[in-house]
Amino acid sequence: MPRGRKPQCVKRKKEVEQILVPQLTLCYRCSEPISYLQKETRYCLDADGNVIAKHVYYYAVHYGGYTKQGGKVQLNYHRCYLGSDEYDYVERFNRLSLAGAIKEDRYKDYLKRIIDYVDEDMLKKMQEQIQQQLKKLEEQKQKDKLDLLIKKLNEFAS
Ligand SMILES: [Zn+2]
Repeated sequence: MPRGRKPQCVKRKKEVEQILVPQLTLCYRCSEPISYLQKETRYCLDADGNVIAKHVYYYAVHYGGYTKQGGKVQLNYHRCYLGSDEYDYVERFNRLSLAGAIKEDRYKDYLKRIIDYVDEDMLKKMQEQIQQQLKKLEEQKQKDKLDLLIKKLNEFAS
């Protein structure tokens, strides 16, 4: 086999698992409520049936009820792709452990990893941005406290 080349899949196998989500969890793609999540694991097998690669993909399933067509009952639903557990191919060029939309805190992890790859000038620029962002958050907190105080004073006065 040529160097750097991945072994070829001879057969593929797929497992699908349903994951319940809290009611009214909204989809990252279409913003509709998610009925449930679907975790799809795809296996790549060699000629002897050994697993040589495994990938996990997530989908939001939007259930839309049943319809009857010519005596047959048809299930109505659509799926939105939410991403993979990990991105092998992309990861070869970007060592950031990219994750799909299913992992809500992924940006925090990206930020932690990016810090290891940037030079001093970039770190100083990032420091300025972080300080500006912290200042905005602090101002927002003060504004929220003031708004709450005004609301309480108005309730007390009426
Ligand atoms: Zn959707």
